Amino acid sequence: MRFKDIYGHEKAISILKSTMAGDRIAHAYLFHGPEGVGKRTTASVFARALNCDAEDPPCDACASCRKAEHKNHPNIITIRAEGQFIKIAAIKELQARMAFRPGEGKRVFILEEADRMNAAAANALLKILEEPSSGNVLLLATARSHALPMTILSRCQHLRFAPLPREEVARFLREKEGMEAATAEVLAAASGGSIGRAIEMNREEYIAMRNGILEHLAQDNPADLLKRLAFAGRFGTEREEILERLRILRSGYRDGLVLRETGAKESLVFGDRAGVIEAIAERLSGRDLLHNIAAVSAAMSAITQNANKPLTLEAMLIKLA
Ligand SMILES: [Zn+2]
Repeated sequence: MRFKDIYGHEKAISILKSTMAGDRIAHAYLFHGPEGVGKRTTASVFARALNCDAEDPPCDACASCRKAEHKNHPNIITIRAEGQFIKIAAIKELQARMAFRPGEGKRVFILEEADRMNAAAANALLKILEEPSSGNVLLLATARSHALPMTILSRCQHLRFAPLPREEVARFLREKEGMEAATAEVLAAASGGSIGRAIEMNREEYIAMRNGILEHLAQDNPADLLKRLAFAGRFGTEREEILERLRILRSGYRDGLVLRETGAKESLVFGDRAGVIEAIAERLSGRDLLHNIAAVSAAMSAITQNANKPLTLEAMLIKLA
């Protein structure tokens, strides 16, 4: 991951690059801004850059960058809350590590959600900030900088991470999440400039859609043909959309079969919906479930090969046991 792979935040990046070029690296930085806009990603890239000797660091190719990519770089240490708080023990450990200068590069401590430090931890960190030691850099990331003591805030160089422009969120969703342009636009518009929020919304929407399909399977009745044909309308119109829903359908039947034959809830794809899967397993015999899995698989391959989508779906739904 390099600076150019970060979405947005050109200003923060150019500040970080120029402090590196001018050898004016601060002892402590505060990356502040809303959740899910890229603070942690930027902290990680900056930490790599501080440990990379390439001309335009980080290079992604040297031994140091590769260690960082595999999250086992001895100079890059991430500190997170344990439970609700970042506790004093974590800050004491940080302090103990700081006592020894790193052999090469800069030792970087990334405090995620730094506002979660409890009072004792914040006090301990303040002591560290009051006596900075060369070779070490602290990166505090937070969406709630107002929750940090002023004494800490005043000792950090502040970099603001604003909500991302809508186009940047949409571009991320297309390029990194493989979303269709239209879906990406809708989510980006509702995301408030947060990639994290857009992904979360997408997940929530997926889960609601999945739950709807599984509940239909639990209550499905071959005699109620009209209901089945109405169900076809919930598969969408785009090929990818339809295939995604068919995969859910197939996994639902597959889970029903697994539960029926083995009773092993831990082997379910949709283990969080074991109750609904149980209802599916009770309603259908093993043979019916196998028949349905085959029918859904056949519809999936037909749609992949450009068969008429509504006709394929309706024919499949009529065939289901
Ligand atoms: Zn490198």
